[in-house]
Amino acid sequence: MPSRTVLPAGVSSASFARALAELRKVVGSEQVITDRDALLPYEKLMLAAQAEEFAPSGAILAATVEEIQGVLAVCNKYRAPLWPISTGRNFGYGGALPATRGQLILDLKRMNRILDVDPVLSTALVEPGVTYQQLHDHIAERNLPLWLDFPGGGPLVGPVGNTLERGTGSTPYADHFAHACGMEVVLADGRILRTGMGSLSGSRAWQAYRYGYGPYLDGLFTQSNFGVVTKLGLWLMPAPASYRTILVQYSEDSALERAVEAIRPLRLAGTIANPCALSNAALALAAYRRRAELYQNGGPTPDELILSAARQHGIEPWNLTFTLYGTPEQIAPNLDIVTRAFEMSGGRVDPDHHDPSQVNELNLDAFRLLDWVGGGGLAWIAPVSAALGADAARQRDIARGILGRHGFDYLAAPTVYGRDLHHVIALVFDHGDPQALPRARMAFRELAAAFLDSGYGLVRTSIDYMTALANAYGETHRTVNHTLKRALDPNGILAPGKSGIRP
Ligand code: ADP
Repeated sequence: MPSRTVLPAGVSSASFARALAELRKVVGSEQVITDRDALLPYEKLMLAAQAEEFAPSGAILAATVEEIQGVLAVCNKYRAPLWPISTGRNFGYGGALPATRGQLILDLKRMNRILDVDPVLSTALVEPGVTYQQLHDHIAERNLPLWLDFPGGGPLVGPVGNTLERGTGSTPYADHFAHACGMEVVLADGRILRTGMGSLSGSRAWQAYRYGYGPYLDGLFTQSNFGVVTKLGLWLMPAPASYRTILVQYSEDSALERAVEAIRPLRLAGTIANPCALSNAALALAAYRRRAELYQNGGPTPDELILSAARQHGIEPWNLTFTLYGTPEQIAPNLDIVTRAFEMSGGRVDPDHHDPSQVNELNLDAFRLLDWVGGGGLAWIAPVSAALGADAARQRDIARGILGRHGFDYLAAPTVYGRDLHHVIALVFDHGDPQALPRARMAFRELAAAFLDSGYGLVRTSIDYMTALANAYGETHRTVNHTLKRALDPNGILAPGKSGIRP
């Protein structure tokens, strides 16, 4: 276990000690953590890498905007890098850890006020430390007819961190950034920017109208390191009068293409309002069984073993769930339309299914897939393409080939969001197994490179792949980001390396 302090690159130990002394004055001694043991909760890493490579210098738990301004002033003075997190549970992408070693984690979990929930406009305004569980409980206590859209981490994570990463959920509000409205951002020099209508004094439309005036700035603060977001406006879904979740199953692996082609027009017409996730048999089976119960040899689990176990649980090669929302009078004709379309594509339709995440029910089901092999290793990789069946099939073939070669199973849910398809793949492995970890690392890198070679980007990525992914987007893209970075954070103290953007 490492006991010495990890110094930020280019900062001497004497200078770092002075910085820490000043930071303690800003937030209070007990809110500056440098003890290696006390930092361990921040260092849980599921990725195929060692936490040591990303070890933080410390953690600072600021509780107010004024404290953040004070922290930024000290970090600017000493050139100490600062990695902001909200709930810090970026599971399968790096958790709370920074993209480079030696950064101070700026932990905002103590800023956890729900500042507003407006049942008339169906909006909320929250601080970074607010979790989905907390917001859900608040809405339930007030008995408000409002729904939330939970990402995979469900109760444990929060809307600010997830939205800033452009995370997704499973209801019609699944695109979290598309349903965010208004930010408060503390810039590196301590100035406070309110985006959209938040900068117009007297406006009461901060959470209602996203664009304000002039360039739409909010996107600059997602998947980036240009500021510390301290408030975020959210649009909440009015609870629908009723809903019906539908399961469509395809009994052949080759049906993936047809399924995507059937889904797209229904999504574009709005007949289906939420994302359409097609879970493959292995991913769906991981909720019930462990790989070792089926197969204990090397290489990927043979398809026929997965399929025979899957069928015992009513699982087929592709399992699509989506939900129709509205009054019974609206749902009835739409059910007819989707049933016809999916039956024509060769699917079997079960119109009476349950999926908690599509209907405002918090759950931790997503974590069951970790039990497939045990040992807590997880890296998400989600290539993005246009929502075309041929692309989904090509991504499947790439993934299955590379994962299989490295001895991993292909656990996937190609998901049609709208015109875009995110082929969500979970690379699960035993993090404690000294053989499995380097294999997983290699598989991840090969997979990402193969997707990029085929023109598939990744919807987001983990701390160990940010620079590589940014490089794939070319010189001009990189230069523009660097120009913005230099203008907004001239000392480069905010989250260097985030999304490959460095000072
Ligand atoms: P969650 O716990 O909801 O998964 P995190 O709090 O781990 O989300 O945040 C995910 C990532 O988003 C962080 O690693 C960081 O890069 C960025 N981030 C989170 N909160 C902020 C914030 N308030 N300001 C700027 N960037 C942030």
